[in-house]
Order: sequence, then structure tokens, then C-alpha cells
Amino acid sequence: MDIDEIDRIAVLGAGTMGHGIAELAAMAGYDVVLRDINEEFVQDGYDQIEWSLGKLAEQGRLTEAEADAAIERVEAKVDLAEAVEDADVVIEAVPEQFDIKEEVFAEVDANAPSEAIIASNTSSISITDLSETTDRPEQFCGMHFFNPPIRMPLVEVIAGDHTDDAILDAIEALAEDFGKTPVRVRKDSPGFIVNRVLVPVMNEAAWMVNDDEATIASVDSTTKYVMGLPMATFELTDVVGIDVAVDVLEYIHSVLGDAYEPAPLLEEKVEAGDLGKKTGKGFYDYENGGVDIPSDEGDESVQTRLLAIMANEVAKLIDGDVADLGDIDDAMMLGAGFPDGPSRLADDYGVQALYEHLAERAEDHPRFEPAHGLKSAAERGGFRVEDEEKAAAFETLEVEGPDEAYVATITIDREHRMNAISEELLDELEVALGRLDADADVRAIVLQGAGDRAFSAGADVMSMAGSGADPLAAVELSRKGQRVFGKLEQADAPVVAAIDGYCLGGGMEFATCADFRIATSRSTFGQPEHDLGLLPGWGGTQRLQHIVGLGRAKEIIFTCDHYEAETMAEYGFVNEVVDSSELDERVREFAEDLAAGPPIAQRYTKRAMHAGREDVDAGLELEAQAFGQLFSTDDLMEGVTAFASDEDPAFEGK
Ligand code: NAD
Repeated sequence: MDIDEIDRIAVLGAGTMGHGIAELAAMAGYDVVLRDINEEFVQDGYDQIEWSLGKLAEQGRLTEAEADAAIERVEAKVDLAEAVEDADVVIEAVPEQFDIKEEVFAEVDANAPSEAIIASNTSSISITDLSETTDRPEQFCGMHFFNPPIRMPLVEVIAGDHTDDAILDAIEALAEDFGKTPVRVRKDSPGFIVNRVLVPVMNEAAWMVNDDEATIASVDSTTKYVMGLPMATFELTDVVGIDVAVDVLEYIHSVLGDAYEPAPLLEEKVEAGDLGKKTGKGFYDYENGGVDIPSDEGDESVQTRLLAIMANEVAKLIDGDVADLGDIDDAMMLGAGFPDGPSRLADDYGVQALYEHLAERAEDHPRFEPAHGLKSAAERGGFRVEDEEKAAAFETLEVEGPDEAYVATITIDREHRMNAISEELLDELEVALGRLDADADVRAIVLQGAGDRAFSAGADVMSMAGSGADPLAAVELSRKGQRVFGKLEQADAPVVAAIDGYCLGGGMEFATCADFRIATSRSTFGQPEHDLGLLPGWGGTQRLQHIVGLGRAKEIIFTCDHYEAETMAEYGFVNEVVDSSELDERVREFAEDLAAGPPIAQRYTKRAMHAGREDVDAGLELEAQAFGQLFSTDDLMEGVTAFASDEDPAFEGK
């Protein structure tokens, strides 16, 4: 089913998650049926949606008219058969019990149209097992929202063993339509991504306290103030519910073995009925002081252990081909509010040290057994460090630096073809960007084209003619360009494109992903794809409008005209126009200025600005988290001290 064929969505269960999911669907313009087992529950869910839409309107995030239109699209029902009879997609959010879900799916299967997709919001039950309770396992997948759905930007889209790829594509598109960022979980593995990384860390913290290796205060002080996680580990366990954490762990334990044996301390808490915040008592006593985390009890041994367990889970997810490294990092940042992806946290600490920490204890308990992927990341020098040989063997690029001013330069080295972008160049660029991004000494990146005729005159159509003939290969080529240019856009360090000469088509899409553009007055810009009967397929239909506005982006793409640098400066695409004799010097000066800035603040600012393009709430949340993070950096102290004494700050990115 294509996203265009989805109009009507049934959400089953009007509780915490169900009402939030229904609200998102209604806001995105879908007709929604919200269903619960009795009038009272379904009315409760409906009322909560109405209240929440009113709040959003009050905050100016929706107009009154939009809020009214959204609630009008929601219909509340108790009869399950009626609720699903016209649904294109059924999203299930009933209690986390296999037999309840099984019963619900039997009725859905019997009453929903045969082409309807069924998606489960389960947090931990196997998608494959659930899918097999229906007659349409290939049309069944996981669609795992985070609480509260209206605010949390992540949706894990999970493939069961039988799920068709087209169904996953449709559900990902739907999540995007809801304003969320989907991350694909390729294999139905317990805990998916976020819980699979988080819950073993909660368990390890409990083991450490259990075995007198740490205290609750030292664990929480370390995770909050040393590691910079948005919530300290025991604080988070209390919020999630110790019983919920134990349920997830027991499930992971039963499928993946003894590495996930729950710590006795967790089980004791559950037996005592101290389940966390919801019962008034867990690791903290909420009727008696609540959460109280000392800021100065950070302990290096706690940090090493928890990072090692976290890195090991990341490695296991990669070893098992459950998800890509980048997706794991994104999921943890978006779904758990991590300041950085876990692979980067591990790389910054040193994967070798983490590997050794586990290897030394491997005999003590199966949870210390290092994964194959952790060992190889340690040997390579980090998760994100690319194979040096591969990096050194660039044919189409020259990559220099970082130099003493922390500036690295990427030069497109295909002067003979006006620096046109070939598929090989995309591959090499991906490796180069990965390498630069993993290097903390890279604080600004300059992009340029070799020679003085072109920054890049476009896609190398000749080298791609082969793939162009085959529509499927062309789709893949478009995706590859989008992904690689996306990496440039998401690079930690600010990127300046130095443009001299032609900057056309794919070359302009490439330059669009830089943060700043400085061009010579003789440069020429344009998106000529429509003249070829094509469209800008490396992100051009999406990214240009964020810089020049929708109207100008349409003008540039639809007219296929060539534009002078001055005009592009008026449109906001080019930041500065300079004479060709001045380009190198001005770009150098600009890049050095950027490189002297505070790297952590710059990195978070980029992320928050980009996240906010699709979802202002997500952007604002990221901004707030990052703002908090900066308070624990040395750079802040440096900036404030330098400001007070009227000197230039010397930021170190710490
Ligand atoms: P909840 O208890 O708040 O809501 C569940 C609702 O389903 C209740 O209103 C219940 O009456 C209703 N329901 C519908 N059909 C039912 C039936 N046949 N039998 C019994 N009850 C039925 O639960 P929730 O927190 O919204 O969780 C729902 C699902 O979402 C679970 O699978 C859970 O694991 C998952 N989930 C929860 C969270 C979270 O933080 N709460 C996050 C992600 C996923």
C-alpha cells in the first residue's frame, strides 16, 4: 500500500499511547477512529485529545481552526468491528499482554479490509509472533512510538520475519507524515533499539549496587553529571517503572540468554511493590524528598562499566544486522534524549578501554562477554573510524587536514569532468565524511572544487547512464546521494562551501548541504534537471527551500535558469560574494573563525536547527537538552571568563 492510499486510521486502545497516536494522525489530516473497550475509556481518550489540541492552540502551535478540524476528524467507538471496517491502517495500542493483543488481532483480521496494514505499538513483544496471530503476517509490522507521542520525535518501525518491505516503507512514510522521524529496525529483536540499549544499562547499574561496586548516588551522579544523560539511570528506571524494566529484561533474557539476567535488586524492588514514581517509592522515595542526585559523586569506574555495556549492546545490534550504526545513534538521541549517539560516546571514551574492561571480566558473568563487533571496533580504533586503507585510497577527492587551525578541506578532484559527481565520488565522500566527523580535531570543513571552472557542474550523467536506464537502480542512486549529502548536512563541524565557477544540478544540491556558501562573482548557479525531464534527486526538492524559501526554490527548480552569484546572495543562498582573487583568503578566514568557536555548542545548535525544520517541538526539546548540556562544559567557563575579561576565548570542545 502506498502512503497516498492511506486515508483512514483506526487506533485501538485509547490509553496513554493510543490517544496520543490518534491525536497525531488527526493533526496530520487523517480520519481517525479511536477505540476502547467501554464508553468511559474511549471518551476519556477523546477528551484528552481535545484538551491537548486546545493546549497546542493556546501555545500558538496550531490555529484554533486547525485544532477544531483535527478533533472533528476523530470518531470514538467501542465496537471493534465497526472501528476497523474501513481502516487503511490499524494501529494497536492495547495493554502489553500477548493474549489481549492476540484476541484483538483476531477480530481486526476478521473485520478490517483485506489490504489494511496492522501495526503494533508493542514495546517488547515479538512482532513476528504477533503477526502470526493474523492471516496477513506480511502486512503486519511494529510502529513503536515513545511517550508522549505528541512530543517524542522517534518512531521505531520494526520488521517482523514476514513483513513486506513495501509495508515498512508505507509505515515509515506515515510516521513522517505524523511529523516524526522513523528509524528502521530491520530485524525483530527484543527491545528493538532504544530499550535494547537502555534496559541493560539500567540492569548493570542495579548489578553494580547489588554487588557493592557502586551506590545509587554514585551511579546517578555519574550518568547525569559525567556522562551528560538527560536522566540519571535510577531516576529513569523509577520513571519507566521498575516492573516494566524487569518485564522487558525478562523477555530479552528469555530470548537472548543469560547476559540479560535481571539484577536481584530489581526483582526485590518489584516484590516489595516499590515500582518507582507511580507507587511513590522505587530507588527514590517520592513522598520523602524525591530524587536527589549529588553533582560531585561521579565515579570513573561506573562510567567505564555502563559505557562498556552500552557499547556492547550497540555492537550486538550491528552484529545481528538489526540496525545501522547511524540509525542506532539517531534512535538514542531522538528516543532517549541522549546528547550524542552511543557509538560516539563510546568512541570519545575509547572503545579499546571499554572492550578490555569487559574482556577482563568475561568469565565472571555472561553479561560481560564482549561482542564480536566491539572487538573489531576496538581494533579499528572506534565504531566510527573507517578503514584507514579505504580512506587513503580516494580517487575522486582530496582530503586534507585538520591543520593547526582545526580546519579540514575536501576538494572534489575531477577537474577533467568539471568536478561532476559520480557514484564513486559519493562512495568516497561518505567515507571521508565519516572520518572527518569522527575526528574531534576537525572544527570546520571547507568544500571546494579543483581548478577554477567549476565547484561542481552537476551529476556525472555519463558515469550514471547505466543506472539511469533502470528505474530501481535510479531510485537507489537518488537515495545514496540524499544519504551522503545528508551526512554532510549533519556533520558536527560547520561546513563552508567555497564556490568558484559552475555550481549546478547535483553540485548545487551538494553545496546546499553546507552551512555557509561563499562564491566568486563569476560563479553560476542553477538546477537544470527539469530541462532533462528529471528532477533534483539528491535532496534538491527538500533542502533548497529551507534556505531560500519555497517560492524561490520553486523558481530555481522550475525555470532551470542560470543564476549569478549576486542574485543567489539576494535569495539568501550565498552568504558572501567575493572577487575570484580573494576567494581562498576569505574562505580561510571564515573557516578559521568558525573553528575558533565552541565546538559542542556549534554541534548542538546545528542539530537543534535541523531537527526543528520538521518538528519545532523536537527542535525545541533538543535545544533545551543541549542548552543544559553546555552548562557542564569547560567551554562555557572559558567563554564567560573571556567575555568578562574582554579577551578572545580559547575553546577546547570539552
Ligand atoms: P494503557 O493501559 O494506558 O492503555 C491501554 C488501553 O487499551 C486501555 O485504555 C485499555 O482499556 C485499552 N484496551 C483496548 N482494547 C482492550 C482489550 N481488548 N482489553 C483490554 N484493554 C483494552 O497502556 P499504554 O501505556 O497506552 O500502552 C499501550 C501499548 O503501547 C502497550 O503495548 C505498551 O507496551 C506500548 N507502549 C507504551 C509506552 C508507554 O510509555 N506507556 C511507550 C511505548 C509503547
